[in-house]
Amino acid sequence: MENSAIADNFSLLSKLMDIHGENSFKTKTYSIAAYNIENLDVQLKDVPRETLFSVKGIGGSVGNKVIEMLDTGQLAVLNDYIQNTPLGVIEMLHIKGIGPKKIHIIWKEMEIESIGELLYACDENRLTRFKGFGEKTQQNVQDAIAFYQQNQGSFLYAQLDELFPQIDAYLKKLFSPEKVAVTGAFRRQEPTLDELEFVIVETNEKIKPKFQSAQPPELLEETDDRLLYRLKNGLKLRLYTGETNMARKLFDTTGSATFLEAFEKSYPAIKAEPNKPADEGIFTAAGIDFIPGCLRETSGIILKAKEHTLPNLIQTSDIKAIIHSHSNWSDGVNTIEEMAKECIAKGFEYLVISDHSKAAAYAKGLSEERIREQHRQIDELNQKLKPFKIFKSIECDILNDGSMDYTDDILASFDLVIASVHSNLKMTEEKAMSRVMKAIQHPHVHILGHPTGRLLLSRRGYPLDHPKIIDACVAHNVVIEINAHPRRLDLDWSWIEYALEKNALLSIDPDAHSLEGFNDIKYGVLAAQKGGLTKERNLSSYSLSEFEAFLLQSSRGSKGSRGSIGSIGSTGIV
Ligand SMILES: [Zn+2]
Ligand SMILES: [Zn+2]
Repeated sequence: MENSAIADNFSLLSKLMDIHGENSFKTKTYSIAAYNIENLDVQLKDVPRETLFSVKGIGGSVGNKVIEMLDTGQLAVLNDYIQNTPLGVIEMLHIKGIGPKKIHIIWKEMEIESIGELLYACDENRLTRFKGFGEKTQQNVQDAIAFYQQNQGSFLYAQLDELFPQIDAYLKKLFSPEKVAVTGAFRRQEPTLDELEFVIVETNEKIKPKFQSAQPPELLEETDDRLLYRLKNGLKLRLYTGETNMARKLFDTTGSATFLEAFEKSYPAIKAEPNKPADEGIFTAAGIDFIPGCLRETSGIILKAKEHTLPNLIQTSDIKAIIHSHSNWSDGVNTIEEMAKECIAKGFEYLVISDHSKAAAYAKGLSEERIREQHRQIDELNQKLKPFKIFKSIECDILNDGSMDYTDDILASFDLVIASVHSNLKMTEEKAMSRVMKAIQHPHVHILGHPTGRLLLSRRGYPLDHPKIIDACVAHNVVIEINAHPRRLDLDWSWIEYALEKNALLSIDPDAHSLEGFNDIKYGVLAAQKGGLTKERNLSSYSLSEFEAFLLQSSRGSKGSRGSIGSIGSTGIV
């Protein structure tokens, strides 16, 4: 074993001990040993064992560990620490600006175990509540994580959406607009992506020289009709090239493999009808309705296009309200009044304020007393801002045993209750199911918030039997949230079709923690489109009067006698 490897082991050992909160005198011994060994002029493996302990900086416990590494190639105590530390926590060592001592607080006090969760906590303004974490640190952590993740090669749709206009415009400038079209996973509106794909109707020989700049992107792969580049920010850019038919190439590179196979089977050797935008001509030639890129996932969608029963997809402009948003009463940044005024400015008809409940102490969850105060303030604001309306809501924690975080009479004081799981997320499916099912059956719950608790690219959700959950929500008139935060997008789009078949009502909710959070609605809509959601089946598309009617019906009597929420959506009005 080389000195550099030995030093690396000591350095990691010292960091992991700090992360575990060990005595800093002990941890310093190993970081100093790492430094000394790194700077030795002799390789320790060449030093005779008798004289090893007299080498500068190699004392008793350090010396024994050096011998262990030289003999076995391992360091048992280091392996133990690695085994007892979540991988995501170890990964945090890559984030510039947070050292092991801060990671200790993040892991042990904030109970955060991955980089994605940490980023989400920054988004929710949650770090600043802990000692040694000011707003500046929080911002630095946020920036450092974004940088780290970009270099890991996977992106949220929202992250690429920010870069897209620039790249698209650049390519169109280089090759003229009619020769360039975005395709692949981005065109399908996938929630996470590894690359951005474009069709470029031009030969490799003409394309490659155009990328010769002062800082050229790295060419990773080349075949006759493909080029794969890596840009400076880590993003991969895949180009489908060649002077071929744009419509055909766009079609062939947009759909999922399942979709393309099924289409090929039904309509072999179709030639696109000319003079149609994008790849529409392919569908015209097949004699079926145009299937938007976002729906080209399954084989079933082709039948719908044939029978002219494709859904009329929900649009961002169909969202009439902000449901599920946090104010500075819990972990949000803005006051309720600021959020309401932003809603008015953006043309929303009403705002549903749903701060955290008391169990969410990390997020300043509301005590019963503060709930009463908040309700008084909302009453005052409603007088002041008429006819705009703020509704009293809460994002109530589903406790470990599936019960709610408040008594029934407190829950009854809200216009609307969103029930969400925020703690003890590591559960078996059995445990998760009984916990969530109990919440769905609760008479005061209106909406199931972010059903699986997943954070894209960083945390798998707890396992749920989706059909059972959806069936239960329908039976108990509980609306299923499509949380629009680009890192959540939970309920996943792939379950929306099933939910719609069962006549469930869904709700695209931004879960905003600041005014900017309202913009996430867009990502909820794009994901919901993939599942074929229409505005009629989306609660946040209800007008103020429709929403009030929905609440009235929900509060009348117990859940069983409430009648089907589903019937509201399909008729438009109660
Ligand atoms: Zn939540
Ligand atoms: Zn929330």
